[in-house]
Amino acid sequence: MQLEGKIALVTGAGKGIGRAIAIGMAEQGADVAILSRTRQDLEDVAKEIINLGRKAYIVTADVSKVSDIEEAVRDVQSQTNRIDILVNNAGMNIRTPAIDVTEEDWNKIMDTNLKSAFFLSREVARIMKEQNTGRIINISSVAGCVAIRTGVVYGAAKAGMIHMTKILAMEFAKYGINVNGIGPWYFKTPLTEKVLSNKEYLDEVISRTPMGRVGELKELVGPAVFLASDSSSYITGQTL
Ligand code: NAP
Repeated sequence: MQLEGKIALVTGAGKGIGRAIAIGMAEQGADVAILSRTRQDLEDVAKEIINLGRKAYIVTADVSKVSDIEEAVRDVQSQTNRIDILVNNAGMNIRTPAIDVTEEDWNKIMDTNLKSAFFLSREVARIMKEQNTGRIINISSVAGCVAIRTGVVYGAAKAGMIHMTKILAMEFAKYGINVNGIGPWYFKTPLTEKVLSNKEYLDEVISRTPMGRVGELKELVGPAVFLASDSSSYITGQTL
């Protein structure tokens, strides 16, 4: 469970789950490249990483654009010379009933959640292949395996991530790259703040949750560190 000497790239690291994972990986010894579109958020996270005695690399990019992804990965590699861990966490949702979904909604949700994870994996795998080692962790969702009220496009994008995890695991194993995922249930972050502040919605979520509560962000750090560490060296293609 140690990440000493490793370089991680975490997308969507300015807030919520990505922020928790980036800081959690730094706590275990990794230097972390933190990516999102909002520089101020990243500067705040960087301060926390630096306070832990680790290095933080700030990368502002829009992961829904392949040109931004290519530039961001080049930028990280030029500063760090390697990337050991990629966490594809950046994501968003527009909750719309299926009959009202527009092409613009479809493209935005798919591009931010699914297309980004593929092209980041492609770019970073080219570096990991040369290193003959690497870990890719895709943050999908329970919404990718169970029909819940998150909207059809988000569910389809997350289902795509879960299946992509299996296929990339198979293709990348020969390069020493393990590809796994975490599909969270409900955690309180800016993404879910609005729905979870609706008592009726929260009660329904909790009534379907064996533990009777939503998750705390620190509870996602252990799984992410495990999947990034040597402890999971014979695990690939899986989504927790
Ligand atoms: P969040 O609090 O809204 O944070 C999302 C992060 O992603 C932010 O830092 C945001 O920064 C970044 N981001 C969004 N669009 C981006 C883009 N186009 N380019 C670059 N960065 C972008 O969300 P969260 O709840 O932490 O969710 C993180 C991941 O977990 C998502 O993939 C989400 O689908 C998944 N998830 C969350 C839950 C939950 O209960 N919270 C459950 C299941 C799955 P900027 O806006 O500044 O770019």
